[in-house]
Amino acid sequence: MTHTAERPSWDCRSCGDPWPCDHARKRLVTTMDRIELAISMWANLEDACSDIPDGPPAELFDRFIKWTH
Ligand SMILES: [Zn+2]
Repeated sequence: MTHTAERPSWDCRSCGDPWPCDHARKRLVTTMDRIELAISMWANLEDACSDIPDGPPAELFDRFIKWTH
């Protein structure tokens, strides 16, 4: 159970929730420090924005970035 993102839908491959799902968030928090996590999630957000252009951006921001703070 790796809980990685399926692209371009950005749903979790394991549980089908919008990625990052709860499992993915827990794993990311334990495997990276806060700076690495923020950089990594910004990169994911950029990819997600091009895959899901009608977002909406605020929702994608909350989903990818807000929980890392
Ligand atoms: Zn998952």
